[in-house]
Amino acid sequence: MKAVVTGAAGFLGSELTRQLIREGYQVIAIDNLSTGLRERLQELEAHPSFQFINADVSSPEMADLENVQGVEEIYHLASPASPRFYQAYPLETIAANTLGTKRMLDFARTWNAKLLYTSTSEVYGDPEVHPQSEEYRGHVTTMGPRACYDESKRLGEVYCYEYYSRWGVRVAIARLFNTYSAALRNDDGRVISNLVTQALTSQPMTVYGDGSQTRSFCYIDDTIRGLRSMMREAAADGEVINLGNPGEISILDLARLIRKLAGSDSPIIFRPLPKDDPKQRNPRIDKAIKLLNWRPSVTLEEGLRRTIAAYRSVLSKEGAE
Ligand code: NAD
Ligand code: UDP
Repeated sequence: MKAVVTGAAGFLGSELTRQLIREGYQVIAIDNLSTGLRERLQELEAHPSFQFINADVSSPEMADLENVQGVEEIYHLASPASPRFYQAYPLETIAANTLGTKRMLDFARTWNAKLLYTSTSEVYGDPEVHPQSEEYRGHVTTMGPRACYDESKRLGEVYCYEYYSRWGVRVAIARLFNTYSAALRNDDGRVISNLVTQALTSQPMTVYGDGSQTRSFCYIDDTIRGLRSMMREAAADGEVINLGNPGEISILDLARLIRKLAGSDSPIIFRPLPKDDPKQRNPRIDKAIKLLNWRPSVTLEEGLRRTIAAYRSVLSKEGAE
C-alpha cells in the first residue's frame, strides 16, 4: 500500500507515519516544517519505504507529487493546530485548510485514492449545545482570533463534501477533539504541554481565566487508532465523525491533577482568558462507536502518567547535557 501523509512532521502526522511504515506501507511524507520538526522523522529517513517532500500543500505547484503514482490513501493533516501557531500564521492556516485541502482532493481524484481530512472540534466554536454531536452546526464567528482556524476547517470540510458529492471522491472527515502526549513540542503552547513542562520545572502553572472552562482530552494512541479505522471503514461514504474522549475536565482541575501526578509544588497562577476561548467541549462519540466500533481506551490519568514520565526523561537528559 502507498499512502501520502501531509503534516507528517507534526505531532500527530509523525506518529501516524511511523505506524504506517511499521505496517508495511510506503509513505510519502509532505510537510513545510512550519510548526513541525524534521527530527521527529529522523529514525525513518533511511527507510526504503519512506520519502520526505518539503512542500507547502497550498502551493499550486507540487512538482514532486505530480509524478507519483499508485497512491491509495491520503491522510491530510497539514495545518497549524495550536492557537499559538495558527494565530501567529493566520493566512497560512487559511491557505493550508482551504487551498491545501482542494489540492489534496485533486490528487485523490487523479489517483483514485481515499482521503481522510483532519478537521476539528473547533468547527463547533463556543458550543451552545453540550455535548457536541456531528449534527450540531456550531456557534462560530468569522471575526476573531480563532476564526482563521475554525472557518478554514469548515471550508475544508465543504471542499471534501463537494468532491465527494460531485465526483465520488472517497473522503472521510475526522473532527478531532484535543489530543495529547509527550510528543507535543514543549513550546507548542497547548495546555497539556505547558502545564506538564511547568510542573516538572517548578515554574508557575498558568491557568487562563478562572479555569472553569472544560476540555475533553484524548491520548494520541486512541486518536491515531481512530484515524486508521476511519480510513478503513468510513472513507467511502463522506462520513463526518467525532474522535475524542468524552471524559470532560475543567482546566483548573486538569492543572491540579497534573501537579499531583507530577509530584510538583508549582503554584497555580491565573492569566487572562484569551478572546473567544470556548467555555466547554465534549464529544458525543455514538457515531464512532456505531460505525467504527471505536472508543478511547486510555484514561486521562493513565495518559497523563505516560506523558509526565516521558517529558521527565527528556528534561533530565537535557539537564545532564
Ligand atoms: P502540528 O502543528 O503538530 O502538525 C501540523 C503539521 O503540518 C506540522 O508539521 C506543520 O509543519 C505542517 N504544515 C502546516 N501547514 C502546512 C502546509 N501549508 N503545507 C505542508 N505542511 C504544513 O499539529 P497536530 O496536532 O499534529 O495536528 C495535525 C492535524 O490535526 C491538524 O490539521 C489539526 O488541525 C488537526 N487537529 C489536531 C488536534 C490535536 O489536538 N492535536 C485537534 C483537532 C484537530
Ligand atoms: N490554557 C490554559 N493554560 C495554558 C494553555 C492553555 O489555561 O497554559 C487553556 C486555554 O485557554 C483553553 C484550554 O486550556 O481554555 C485548552 O487550550 P489549548 O490551547 O490546549 O487548546 P484549545 O483552546 O484549542 O482547545
